Amino acid sequence: MEVFRRTDKINGISRIYLLKRWLLDFAYPNRCPFCDKIISFDEYHCSGCGSFFAPPPQQEAPELLDGFTAFTSYDIVSRAFVSKIKNENNGYAISAAAYMIYKRLKEEGAVDYDYITYVPMRKRDIFKRGYNQTKILAKELSGLLGLKFVTLLKKNKDTLEQKKLSAKERKENVKGVFSAVSKGLDLTGRRILILDDVCTTGSTLSECAKALRSAGADYVAAAVFAKTQLK
Ligand SMILES: [Zn+2]
Repeated sequence: MEVFRRTDKINGISRIYLLKRWLLDFAYPNRCPFCDKIISFDEYHCSGCGSFFAPPPQQEAPELLDGFTAFTSYDIVSRAFVSKIKNENNGYAISAAAYMIYKRLKEEGAVDYDYITYVPMRKRDIFKRGYNQTKILAKELSGLLGLKFVTLLKKNKDTLEQKKLSAKERKENVKGVFSAVSKGLDLTGRRILILDDVCTTGSTLSECAKALRSAGADYVAAAVFAKTQLK
């Protein structure tokens, strides 16, 4: 079978990741997250869906980031999709979002990292939802890329909800709240990719980058599913 050639990656996707999806497909046939149609194990949406996302806004990377990739703009279309990931923990949507981010990273040639990590969530949000969708998304992306997934950041205190604040207040709200947890890993000179679902002003990602840099990371980039257009 084409999928099981003796190569580490097939079209850039980790062979192990594809094998897992292939096996999972027997128990839970893969479905299009938009219309629920059954699709092949290596597809992420059916041919009729998934092409309606707008390109991301053309903006500079948030401060302290060496690279920044967004798949789409945060608008009425992507908001509904992000809600499937955030509030419904929809596995098909998470796999599709990871794949779309993966594709964009490949196009930009931004796939060379030592570790993939994620933005930690507020404790009360994890308690409310029971999971951190960004962590699941980051794990999925690391699987696609065949790169190592590690939890490298922790939140030192709970913050106010960013979406209720102005740009200036957002910056203040997250200032110094993240620190690096290396768990015995030496981050010196490492290249790290931070995942998040939505980026608004970028102050959260900048603070995360600051924490990783002070732990020795050499190159810190971020990838998100959707980026808000700032006026
Ligand atoms: Zn569909």
